Amino acid sequence: MSVFEHAEFDDHEAIHFFDDPATGLKAIIAIHSTALGPAAGGCRRWQYATDDEALTDVLRLSRGMTYKNAVAGLPFGGGKAVILASNESPKSPQLFRALGRAVDSLGGRYVTAEDVGINVDDMRWAREETSYVSGLPQSGHSAGGDPSPWTALGVFLGICAAVSTRLGKDTLSGLSVAVQGIGHVGFRLCQLLDEAGAQLFVADMNRELLGRVGDALPVTVVSTRDIIFQDVDILAPCALGNVLNSHSIPRIKARVIAGAANNQLATEVDGRRLMDRGILYTPDYVINAGGVISVAREYLGNSSEDEVRSEVNRIPDRLRQIFEEADKTGRPTNLIADELARRTVAAAQNGDLKAAHRQIA
Ligand code: NAD
Repeated sequence: MSVFEHAEFDDHEAIHFFDDPATGLKAIIAIHSTALGPAAGGCRRWQYATDDEALTDVLRLSRGMTYKNAVAGLPFGGGKAVILASNESPKSPQLFRALGRAVDSLGGRYVTAEDVGINVDDMRWAREETSYVSGLPQSGHSAGGDPSPWTALGVFLGICAAVSTRLGKDTLSGLSVAVQGIGHVGFRLCQLLDEAGAQLFVADMNRELLGRVGDALPVTVVSTRDIIFQDVDILAPCALGNVLNSHSIPRIKARVIAGAANNQLATEVDGRRLMDRGILYTPDYVINAGGVISVAREYLGNSSEDEVRSEVNRIPDRLRQIFEEADKTGRPTNLIADELARRTVAAAQNGDLKAAHRQIA
């Protein structure tokens, strides 16, 4: 497994490998950039087929966090942790305490939180060993707790902005949306879309979740194979990454793609493929920043829910800035967003944080 020649290696500042035989923890923490502040990004627990697959994931996800935090205007760089899950190392308090010690050993250069496969209780165990952790339950109306409702809110507002730009409509009433994955974010997003009068198509391999959403909302359940090819106005990928690729794009009928999943595009050129088909792609790390905004405000302290809400409310403005630039230059939205993020990080690297933040709407 080569690291420096790895296709996803992008001058990451550091990549740390942790092996703790006592608890079975095997984890990788990648710090992509600390130019804007400590590298912040969640911890994912996943059963990877190979170590290289885990490395690929953490390298891509940590770079995505640099871009996400930069475009969200947060004083954080980008990092990510992955735990290589296996049957021999089930979830346990000891495992997450070991993760906490690993995070602590980096002395605050990396701040962790929940991602796929990790919940608030897991983070509580990690918190016993380190203070460099966020996404913990909060009291009263202070910022914090489960970030997914904030992610769902940002995605909902982003869908409204994309619909207004591409379909020229100021309401979602009567529009159809296919939601792929109805987990923490997808379920809440369905509730918001339903309240706005949208017609919902959903898919998930988890039957219990399908039952729950079917009991709560008027949805049409579709197979996991067909959901992204539904004849709908909007596709909202809220499961895992790489769903938009050279095989799937030619068959997509939606005119707007806007969802929570990270790394929706399999490769950079897939953004161009979508544009050439007249599909407006809403860059994933811009639209799904609601959760990290909440986690960041919690970590920094002294922030209220209202402050988180007003920051999440700015996500559509950032998207409109990207859509306008894409329209003006005839270039795909994913590249415009990446450039905006890179300009912000470069300004910070040159010591000009004010210029860095001026990049962002
Ligand atoms: P989750 O694990 O709660 O939900 C994901 C759901 O997708 C699960 O129910 C799973 O069964 C389903 N799924 C997996 N593969 C599928 C497929 N092929 N077809 C249909 N369903 C499938 O995760 P989540 O917290 O809701 O996050 C969803 C996505 O959004 C992830 O990619 C995550 O990285 C991203 N994201 C989440 C947050 C957050 O605040 N939770 C923030 C930013 C980005």
